Amino acid sequence: MDEIDAANEQVEQFTRQALNAALARRSAVSSTGICRSCTLPIEPERLRVNPTAALCHDCLAEEEIERQRTIKLGRR
Ligand SMILES: [Zn+2]
Repeated sequence: MDEIDAANEQVEQFTRQALNAALARRSAVSSTGICRSCTLPIEPERLRVNPTAALCHDCLAEEEIERQRTIKLGRR
C-alpha cells in the first residue's frame, strides 16, 4: 500500500511540475499583441511570423540600433 501511495504522490508531483512548466512556457511564448515599448498594437503580420513578438516593428528597429550602439561602446 505504501508503495502505491508513494507512486501516486510521485505521479501527482510530476503532473504538477509538467503543468507548471507548460504554463510558464505558454506565458513565455505568447505575445500580448501589444508593443512592450510604445503600447501600440503589434502588426498582425508580425505576430503571424513571430507569435512571441513583444515589440512592434518600429520599436524593434529602435532597440536593434540601441543594441548595436551598446555593443560598439562596449568594445571601446
Ligand atoms: Zn512599439
